[in-house]
Amino acid sequence: MTEQTGNLTFGIIKPDAVRGGKTGGVISRIIDGGFKIRGMKLIHMTLAEAQGFYAVHRERPFFGELTTFMSSGPCVVLALEKEGGAVKAWRDLMGATDPSKADAGTIRKEFANSIGENAVHGSDSEENAALEIAYFFSRLELVNGE
Ligand code: GDP
Repeated sequence: MTEQTGNLTFGIIKPDAVRGGKTGGVISRIIDGGFKIRGMKLIHMTLAEAQGFYAVHRERPFFGELTTFMSSGPCVVLALEKEGGAVKAWRDLMGATDPSKADAGTIRKEFANSIGENAVHGSDSEENAALEIAYFFSRLELVNGE
């Protein structure tokens, strides 16, 4: 797994999408997009867990709103693999943070409601992908190979 870090990223199907019945639709887009799912589970974060995950945003004005939303219901956490660079490929498939600015064909264009409740999360760098996968998954929960 370590030698494949560059091909891995971390994703979340956020509470708005799970609540809205979009989990299956998002997973279909992930598989059709050529990603391999290496880890996947349904979780319901506490407020403290959401604050820990988004600690990098703690000074931003929307931190309270974001962490309350992310702990408002179940979400699906994902470790995703794609050869050639999973981080960029997943962010391209997600689309812009604000769904009204997201390109046609992206997950946020199809499934998101607003800049805050925007259906999916994706790591912004390989370094953060490794940290975020480790925040949610134990080694035993990550599957190697086919
Ligand atoms: P991302 O990498 O595209 O997810 O965007 P950012 O790293 O800039 O922001 C992280 C998350 O914070 C976004 O996915 C949104 O859920 C949330 N967020 C960003 N900007 C706003 C905002 O202006 N208002 C609210 N409520 N949430 C925001």
